[in-house]
Amino acid sequence: MNNFWTRSVQYIKGVGPYKGNLLTKLGIFTIGDLLEHYPRRYEDRSQLKMINCLSDGQMETFKGKVIGTVESKPRRGLTIIKVSVGDGTGIAQLVWFNQPHMKKKYQPGMEVIVSGKIKIFYQVEVTNPEVEIINGGEVLDTGRILPIYAASENINQRFLRVIINQVLKDDPEIDEILSNRIIEHYSLLNRKLAFENIHSPQNMEILERARRRLVFEELYLLQCSLLFLKKQQRSHHVGIKHGFDDSLSVQALGALPFTLTNDQQKVLSEVKCDMEDVTTMQRLVQGDVGSGKTVIAALALVKTVENGYQGAMMVPTEILAGQHYRTLSELFTPLGISVSVLTGKLTRRAHEQVLSKLKEGLVDVVIGTHALIQDAVEFKQLGLVITDEQHRFGVRQRGILQEKGNRPDVLVMTATPIPRTMALTVYGDLDVSSIRQLPPGRKPIKTFVRGSNRRQLVYQFIVDEVNKGRQAYVVCPLVEESEKIDAQSAVELYEQLMQTDLKNIRCGLVHGKMKAADKEAVMNAFYSGEIKVLVATTVIEVGVNVPNATVMVIEGAERFGLAQLHQLRGRIGRGECQSYCILCSDNKNPETQERLAIMTKTNDGFILAEEDLKLRGPGQFFGTRQHGLPDLKIADIISDLSILMEAKNAAEQTIAIPDEFRSIRVSLNQRFGQDIGMITGN
Ligand code: ADP
Ligand code: MG
Repeated sequence: MNNFWTRSVQYIKGVGPYKGNLLTKLGIFTIGDLLEHYPRRYEDRSQLKMINCLSDGQMETFKGKVIGTVESKPRRGLTIIKVSVGDGTGIAQLVWFNQPHMKKKYQPGMEVIVSGKIKIFYQVEVTNPEVEIINGGEVLDTGRILPIYAASENINQRFLRVIINQVLKDDPEIDEILSNRIIEHYSLLNRKLAFENIHSPQNMEILERARRRLVFEELYLLQCSLLFLKKQQRSHHVGIKHGFDDSLSVQALGALPFTLTNDQQKVLSEVKCDMEDVTTMQRLVQGDVGSGKTVIAALALVKTVENGYQGAMMVPTEILAGQHYRTLSELFTPLGISVSVLTGKLTRRAHEQVLSKLKEGLVDVVIGTHALIQDAVEFKQLGLVITDEQHRFGVRQRGILQEKGNRPDVLVMTATPIPRTMALTVYGDLDVSSIRQLPPGRKPIKTFVRGSNRRQLVYQFIVDEVNKGRQAYVVCPLVEESEKIDAQSAVELYEQLMQTDLKNIRCGLVHGKMKAADKEAVMNAFYSGEIKVLVATTVIEVGVNVPNATVMVIEGAERFGLAQLHQLRGRIGRGECQSYCILCSDNKNPETQERLAIMTKTNDGFILAEEDLKLRGPGQFFGTRQHGLPDLKIADIISDLSILMEAKNAAEQTIAIPDEFRSIRVSLNQRFGQDIGMITGN
């Protein structure tokens, strides 16, 4: 792409270094970023209404003259400004609370265009309207379909609109990147027109076409990247051919404290089949939380060790690494299989020891966090790599681990269910196995929603369960996507509970900002049953397995998406006793209540995923992020599924036409290189 696209936004007229810096907080560094800062939604302000034709409860736009302003202070701390605007057919009141500066802003005689939600009750009122003052100049915000952007405190809608308009007005060099063949075959709008109309649509019809073009482009580039990756992986025909099960595998199976469910058996045989084949395994195992994926991983690891190879398992958190280490050691040590852990928290010396053992082949299996994909990690003979909770990793990270061996088999595991057709498309490069059945003897978890008026009862319930010998989790509300703030709120909740409801109970606290050693000490005390109640942030969301824990209280439950609530709830219901999940929320928003109510009706992740599709709440199941795919800027892999299929077809053709593939390589690297891998060579 040309350098216009990568030029800093600072140089746009009206931006400069100060505003430029504020824009970076929205992820906007370059002109390309700005143009790809797509509107979240639109408001149709192309229709101006007369005041006497406005309808109650509707978002509408009208034009008029300011008549006068009245300020009132009905009580202390409350200032109301009312500006009356007339257009000859009627008068409307624009209302602001505690914004005294509005009084000076609007002078009688000014012409304004007003948009907002209309309330008709004795008179026409609009609270907190958007107002544009017409100074005889250009009208930017009205009389058109208005884009609404993700903005911030310091960068408002209007500023974004102005600078994007500025860029588009200067006849920017937006080069076409798709081949003529594709443009024609899929009747796509050209690239420049698409950018112009996504930000400043002439009408709804062209907006739709602009969006389709840009969605297509994004999904096409994604598919090209994934297909290229797949082609590269499959082109090494000769991977590792593991032998049929030998004594170690048989012993391991016999040593399990339970028999495998039918689904586990089926998935295990699919995995083994792949491993025994000479082509490299690229398999995804999906199974709901608690469905027993770990044992599949364990048996696959045994198989690779039995064949003289090493195995590596990567997990997203230290807590989970520690837990898997414990589970696997129990099974492996009697079989003479050595296991090590590699995480960021090891001392330098211990770290180096593990590295040298791995390199010399003195360790059979290693379990680790991201520390596993550092450059310094080398293996003697890597035969199998596993990523657990793969939705927490990106495609690229999986690739790096794999490259540490000579075409090892690859197994990825996820608890985020996805319909099969979509999995094949989204995971372009993987085969999929599913475990749908839970191990026998589990009692379905009972889930309740409770308001803070019953908070004491909720905590009394925890005390009762603890007195019966059980354990509990209390998850504190997710504040922001910031570990630091979450940590603070966990500390506060912990201290408050220790002084009040849980003062006679042994409690522990874990959050992401704690030192690794402290975290581990608390987790160990919880595993051993010494700590009865664990107050935590979402660090416990993945993997943690304490079958004796039977209560999960989630504070501020409305802040979590269904997927996350389901993951959290998956920490309980792992043993024989009845488990209870209590979602605490005072939120009265009907959509939120509906979302929480669904949790009380089912424990099935696949059903929840379907419901999520209908509701699309925060942190949706079907966001790309839930699947470890790069963030998409405009496409939505669910609602744009039909475009996704087209884009996939187009990408398959492109991959087969060397010239065409070469011509989009720069675009691919620019868009997805970081996340999926740079494409080099010819
Ligand atoms: P997940 O799929 O969420 O990773 P785990 O592998 O942690 O689930 O398994 C959850 C629990 O179920 C563990 O305590 C495990 O020992 C137990 N488990 C797994 N498979 C079976 C089975 N076939 N029968 C009984 N318990 C099982
Ligand atoms: Mg697991």
